[in-house]
Amino acid sequence: MIIDMITKQYKEMLGRKSIIRQLSEFATARGEQIGYENVFDYSLGNPSVSPPQIFTDTMMELLRDSNPVYLHGYSQSLGIPAVRQKVADSLNDRFHMNYTREHIFMATGAAGAIAHALRCVTAPGDEVLIFAPYFAEYRAYINLSGAVMKVVPADVKDFQINFEAFEEMLTEKVAAVLLNTPNNPSGAVYTCGTLTKLAEIMTAKEKEYGHDIFLISDEPYREIVFSGTDAPYVTKFYPNSISCYSFSKSLSIPGERIGYVAVNPACRDAQYIADMCGQISRGIGHNCPPSIIQLAVAKCLDVTSDLSVYETNRNILYKELTSLGFECVKPGGTFYIFPKAPDKDAAAFCEKAKKYDLILVPSDDFGVPGYFRMAFCIDTEKVVRSLEAFRKLVKGENYFR
Ligand code: PLP
Repeated sequence: MIIDMITKQYKEMLGRKSIIRQLSEFATARGEQIGYENVFDYSLGNPSVSPPQIFTDTMMELLRDSNPVYLHGYSQSLGIPAVRQKVADSLNDRFHMNYTREHIFMATGAAGAIAHALRCVTAPGDEVLIFAPYFAEYRAYINLSGAVMKVVPADVKDFQINFEAFEEMLTEKVAAVLLNTPNNPSGAVYTCGTLTKLAEIMTAKEKEYGHDIFLISDEPYREIVFSGTDAPYVTKFYPNSISCYSFSKSLSIPGERIGYVAVNPACRDAQYIADMCGQISRGIGHNCPPSIIQLAVAKCLDVTSDLSVYETNRNILYKELTSLGFECVKPGGTFYIFPKAPDKDAAAFCEKAKKYDLILVPSDDFGVPGYFRMAFCIDTEKVVRSLEAFRKLVKGENYFR
C-alpha cells in the first residue's frame, strides 16, 4: 500500500538522524561536565556573530511604529510584493540581472527555497544530481520531493567538479542539478571556469535529450567569501537556473527562517515558476513566511553581519592544521574546513578526537569517506585554545610520524 510505503520512508529517516545534531548534543552534555568553554565544539553551522545593528533597529522600529494588525498578519503567499521587488532590485544592482518581483518567491530559509525549487522542476521519479561533498540535508529535500538523488563523486583535488563523472551521470533521466557554492562542507567556491564548463555540458545535454535540465543553485554562503577568492553569481552562467538564497548566515538569523527563490528571467517558464512556488507552498504547508521578518530583511539586503571573524578563524586553522600534517584544501569561503582524516575511517578518527574535547564531524554523511568537517563559526579565542588540543591529539594518537 502507498501509505505503508510513505510511512516506511519516514521511519527509515529515523534511523538516519543527523550525526551533526548528535555530536552537538554530545558537546552540550560534555559542557555540563567540564564547562562548555572547554569543549571545542566544531559541530554546528550556527553563526557566531550578531546580526547587523540595522536588523535589530529595524525590528524595533517595526514593532514600535507599524500597524500591528498588518505587521503580524498573513503575508501574500509569494511574499510581500514590496519586499519581493526590493530583493529583485538589489540582485539587479549587484549582479546586473533583470529580475522583477515576479521572479522572486520568499521562502523559509534556503531549505524552504530548495524544497520549492525542486518541486517546480522535477516530477516524482526524475533524477537530481548533486556533487559530493554535499550538505547532508539534500537527501531529505530531494527524496521527499519524490525525485531520486544521485551523487556525483568528489573531485578531491580541489573540491571543484568531477566533470568526467558528471558527464557520465547526466543521463536523460536527470531533470535538475543541485549545487552549492560556496560549499558546505568543503569551503570551496566554484570558479568561473568550473561554472562555464558545467553550463556548457548541461546545454549540450539539453540539446541532445530535447528537454530542459534545470540548475538549482543553493547559496546561503554567498556573502561569506574570503579575500582573494572570486565568487561568481551562478545564475549568470546558465539560463535554466534558479537560485535559492538564505539570510541565515549573512545576517546571522537562522532561527528567523527567511530566504528566497530567484528565478532567472531567462529560464523556461520563468514567469510561472515563482507563482508555482506559491501553489507548492499550499501543499507543503510552508506558505507565508513571517511578515515582520520579510519587512526587516528588506531593509538589510545590502548589508551583512561582521563576517570577518570567519576569515580570521579560517587563517588560524588552515595554518595550524596543515603545519601539523593534515592535508586540506584551503577554504575560499563559508565557515567550514574539510581536512583529510589521518585514519582511513573518519568516524573512528572523530571518536578519538572526542578524548581531547574536539568535536569534529566525520565526512561520511557528506558523501565522501575519509575527511572531517569543522564548523569554525565559534569565537577566535576558542579556536586558538583548540590548537593545543589538536597538538595533543596528533601526538597522543601518533599521527604524521
Ligand atoms: N544549504 C546549505 C549548504 C546549508 O549549509 C544550509 C544550512 O546550514 C542550508 C542549505 C539551509 O539553510 P537555512 O537554514 O537557511 O534553511
